[in-house]
Amino acid sequence: MGLICPQCGIEGEFRIRAGLELPPDGRSDEITLQASVCHGCGLFSVTVYEESRRGSLDQDSFDHYGYRLDGLEFERLVGLITACPRPDDRRCSCPTHRQLSRTDDQGIWRGLSAFRLGPYFNVFYRP
Ligand SMILES: [Zn+2]
Ligand SMILES: [Zn+2]
Repeated sequence: MGLICPQCGIEGEFRIRAGLELPPDGRSDEITLQASVCHGCGLFSVTVYEESRRGSLDQDSFDHYGYRLDGLEFERLVGLITACPRPDDRRCSCPTHRQLSRTDDQGIWRGLSAFRLGPYFNVFYRP
């Protein structure tokens, strides 16, 4: 299963370089933050996978989306993720996790507020 690059449309070159599991928020049971890059066109981005199991019993709903980043913001994101000693542990309390798992007054995740985000896009897969 290959991710399709939102910029050049090539499948399989858009890859996740680093990922970080984050605690659930008021909306999602699973949140994964990803630094994703296209080896075809050089697009840098932050992508987010959110999954909720709170809807109807047999229906998982998920959302996979992202924002373009410039090179400096992308390197900052990769640096933050790689500084975490346990990126697969959503209960990790390192400085990276504390910064990127921030929520607002409603308990909704706002971890991306730490970044200067470019345009929004949805992540598509070839089935
Ligand atoms: Zn591309
Ligand atoms: Zn951590």
